[in-house]
Amino acid sequence: MCRHLAYLGPPIPLSRLLFEPAHSLCHQSWAPRDMRGGGTINADGFGAGWFTPAGPVRYRRDTPMWSDTTLPALAASVTAGAVLAAVRSATAGMPVTESAAAPFGAGPWLFSHNGQVVGWPRSIAKLAAALPVEDLLVLEAPTDSALLWALVHDQLRTGVPAASAVANVLASVSLVAPESRLNLLLTDGSTVVATTAGHSLSVRRSDDFVLIASEPLDDDPAWRQVPDRTLLVADSEKLTLTPLGET
Ligand code: GLN
Repeated sequence: MCRHLAYLGPPIPLSRLLFEPAHSLCHQSWAPRDMRGGGTINADGFGAGWFTPAGPVRYRRDTPMWSDTTLPALAASVTAGAVLAAVRSATAGMPVTESAAAPFGAGPWLFSHNGQVVGWPRSIAKLAAALPVEDLLVLEAPTDSALLWALVHDQLRTGVPAASAVANVLASVSLVAPESRLNLLLTDGSTVVATTAGHSLSVRRSDDFVLIASEPLDDDPAWRQVPDRTLLVADSEKLTLTPLGET
C-alpha cells in the first residue's frame, strides 16, 4: 500500500521530508519496511502538497518518485510549514494516473489514503450514491481513495469538524466494507487528522513541529508508533490520540 506523511512546523524545504532522511519518503517508495502484505514497493505515482499564502499547491506524477527528474530541485527550493506527501502502490484493478495519486484536495484541504476498500466498488456503492451527482462526475479518479476523499469532503463542506468528518467516514466505510484498510490523512495546513486502520503510522513531535508518517523517516528515538485503530489529531499546540470508536 502507499506511504504518506504530514508535517506542521517551522518552514522547511520539502527535501527534508522527501529526500534527505535515511528513510525519506523517496526511500520508502522503493524500500518500505512495513507494508503488512499490502504490496512491495510504491512505484505507481506520488504527490506532494504544500501550503502557501494562496492556499495548497500540489505536484503529482504517475511515475515513481525516484525517477522524477524535476522533483529533487523543486523540493530543495520549495519551503513550507505545512506539507502532505504520498507515494502510491496502486491496488490491483485501479488505474495508474496522475489524478489517482494523493494528495487529493479542494479549497484549503489536502487528503491521502493508505489502504484499500474491500469489495470495491460494490461494497461502497450505496455510500457513493448518497453523494451529490456533481461530486461523482468530477471524482479525481475511479479509485477507492478518490471516493473516500469525496465522502470526507462532503462532510467538511457541511461544516462537520475535520476529526469528526474523518472518523465518520471511517466508521461508515468499515460498516459496509469490514476489513478495509483505512489509514487516512487530512490537513488544512494548521491541523492534521490521521487514522490507523490496518496500516502502520508513526509520529514524531518536538516543541515546534509534528511529523506523522507511515514509517519513521530516521532512527530518532522520539518516533512513536501509533496503535492500530486510532484517531490522531495534531496542531502546533497539542497531539491527541483517541481509540477509534471512542471518537
Ligand atoms: N487503494 C488506493 C489506490 O489504489 C491506495 C493504495 C495504497 O494505499 N497503496 O490508490
